[in-house]
Amino acid sequence: MKYYSTNHKAPEVTLAEAVVRGLAPDRGLYMPERIERLPDAFFEQMPSLSFQQIACRVAEAFFGEDIEKAALDRIVCDTLNFETPIVAVEPGIYALELFHGPTLAFKDVGGRFMARMLGHFIGHSSQEVTVLVATSGDTGSAVANGFLGVEGIQVVVLYPKGKVSEIQEKQFTTLGRNITAVEVDGTFDDCQRLVKSAFLDEELNHRLKLTSANSINVARFLPQAFYYFNAWAQARRAGIKKDLVVCVPSGNFGNITAGLFAKRMGLPIERFIAANNRNDIFYQYLQTGVYTPRPSVATLANAMDVGDPSNFARVLELYGGSVEAIRADISGYWYSDEQIRETVSETFARTGYLLDPHGACGYRGLRDGLKPGETGIFLETAHPAKFRDTVEPIIGAKVEIPERLAAFMRGEKLSLPMRADFADFKQFLWNRA
Ligand SMILES: *Cc1c(COP(=O)(O)O)cnc(C)c1O
Repeated sequence: MKYYSTNHKAPEVTLAEAVVRGLAPDRGLYMPERIERLPDAFFEQMPSLSFQQIACRVAEAFFGEDIEKAALDRIVCDTLNFETPIVAVEPGIYALELFHGPTLAFKDVGGRFMARMLGHFIGHSSQEVTVLVATSGDTGSAVANGFLGVEGIQVVVLYPKGKVSEIQEKQFTTLGRNITAVEVDGTFDDCQRLVKSAFLDEELNHRLKLTSANSINVARFLPQAFYYFNAWAQARRAGIKKDLVVCVPSGNFGNITAGLFAKRMGLPIERFIAANNRNDIFYQYLQTGVYTPRPSVATLANAMDVGDPSNFARVLELYGGSVEAIRADISGYWYSDEQIRETVSETFARTGYLLDPHGACGYRGLRDGLKPGETGIFLETAHPAKFRDTVEPIIGAKVEIPERLAAFMRGEKLSLPMRADFADFKQFLWNRA
């Protein structure tokens, strides 16, 4: 399968090239040239299949031409060493819990998959690959843990100083080995800019083999389609016959884009709701038809603090640039910090279900967007314990910390402070080669 750039000004590439490059040379994002519609027989069979079996079939549709079946199945099965259950919160509303992986957030799926696929492609090549990743919180931990100890790959995580929670920070600054954390005196958008500039710097790319692990990488964002299929299979098993409405708390829009791909592959999803925090760029786009990025602002749902969602280009591409077509499939909401607090508190008191601040946007978007008689699933993208500094005061109680999270907290932070300045960042990378 060939991959083309959303800017249409770069040559088509193979899967291996798309994965190693991350961003296309014209700054566009890679898209698969085809999205295969899966056969009806597969959908009929799906309720009786395991998550891994479902995911292997979905993976084959994208990667089957480029990776032999046994190797691909191994990548998928190694990635999915945890479940993504749907849990009833109240009648007609289910949480798709994506936090049962090693770093307790959905990005474990893409992070683990990409590490394994990149490892497969670089194989025994002699030159080390350096993975650059900018994080507003959870990407860093998922990618760092996904790549930890993978031979031939160095990972550099850039994160905005003081803008990620202590728990998030510990998950990527305590690992050591092939993982280096860089603490940037700036915002997430600054971190993302440093990474993008590094990819476009010819001298640097001559000296180092750089690649990205942000959600722009096809190996990170496509596998996120797996759990939409798995959610649907579980819903069928639970006797839900209707098509589902799916609400996705969104920042860079990689997660929801994977859902849109699943729908294109024939998964019966009625429509999507994109829930934003105060960074309501996509919501405003739906209202006005004009895309106006702007600097991000800090919110309680900090992994969604994105002022220029990178995967917006893929959404546009999927719908031929038509805002009407996008509106037909996706509606939007946005929530202030006050509304996030209120939602966590009210939902916990009424149903006993504890949301994290991102899931709170998802849950509320679903409640606000569901029409009478519809059934919906929202993506619970992180475990509430990851945001316990926020959540505990809201509910006035302690949140139980899962052991794998407690283990990170005991580690020692190791990070390199840096100004939000490309010359400094370049020098740092240069000296590593
Ligand atoms: C990254 C993240 C999001 C946003 O996902 P995108 O793919 O960037 O839209 C939402 N919630 C959590 C917990 C995250 O880590």
